[in-house]
Amino acid sequence: METMDQYADAWKGIQKGFEDGRLAHAYVIVGSPRGNALEFAEAILKLLYCEAPKKPCNECTNCHRVASHKHVDTLWIEPKSKSRQILADDIRGLIRRMTQTSFDGGWKSAVIMAADCMNPNSENALLKTLEEPPAKSLLLLLTDSPQSLLPTILSRCQKIVLSEEATHAKNSLWHASLMELLGELPPTGGLDASRLAGKLKVILDTVKAEISTAVEEELGANDEALDESKLKEILEARTNAQLKAVQSDVFRIMLDWHRDILMLVSKVNEKHLIFPASQSLLAEQATQHTPVSALQAIQGVEGMAIRLNRNIPIAQIFDEAFRKLVR
Ligand SMILES: [Zn+2]
Repeated sequence: METMDQYADAWKGIQKGFEDGRLAHAYVIVGSPRGNALEFAEAILKLLYCEAPKKPCNECTNCHRVASHKHVDTLWIEPKSKSRQILADDIRGLIRRMTQTSFDGGWKSAVIMAADCMNPNSENALLKTLEEPPAKSLLLLLTDSPQSLLPTILSRCQKIVLSEEATHAKNSLWHASLMELLGELPPTGGLDASRLAGKLKVILDTVKAEISTAVEEELGANDEALDESKLKEILEARTNAQLKAVQSDVFRIMLDWHRDILMLVSKVNEKHLIFPASQSLLAEQATQHTPVSALQAIQGVEGMAIRLNRNIPIAQIFDEAFRKLVR
């Protein structure tokens, strides 16, 4: 299996853990919940349930049951299509199942797909199980944005990273465009502010289109069985989740940029700059700021991030925020 070659080290760790009877009770598998993370989860489950001496054989009844998500001792949970959330009721159902005896006295397992779609109630419900895991139980959380999970959940799970986490800003295409935009700050007037706001919107629109294409391809490759409306819902939910992660990266970078400016205006040791490579650019922008205006710029970016979570048109939010940055 391609996955198994690609992730040989992670797989070896699991296999050895299984043979030594030292598997963790819960794993966070970082990767695509409908792609590599799913395949990896299925492989682990086959290991648990396979009837052949050399596991997993991929051929026995149990291996087939795992592959079709029909093994009686495994519960699969995914976001409810309408709310795009994993609800606390689902998690409570999972906990009940995990504490019952398995049908053949063996392992009980559960897989939470797109675990980052748990709401706070769900996560809190899950925490109780993670604190006192039943014997011979295995919980697999699949996600491409582990940073969206509660730290208390992450700390109770072993992490297996199959793909780069979804929001590695520096390697992303949009990162260069954003840095270019930051280099053009501060806007010189209202028109210039609108122009820069428009640029930021184009960056995020482009990101959204890219994410949507990638998610669509991934869904197409893995989910022939889904009907069109369901497919569209999943596509939208997953695109929005990933876009949100990029947006928060964008705002963090904009905040860091203005923190650097504040630091330079306040004549703090420039060794602590977050963007040392842009020092001359930052210094030039800093000459147009006072400590007060640099602080206001930081608050302006923070305000922009907060307003984005309310249903205000994005163009309006950016426009108003960049106007506040005018010097
Ligand atoms: Zn088998």
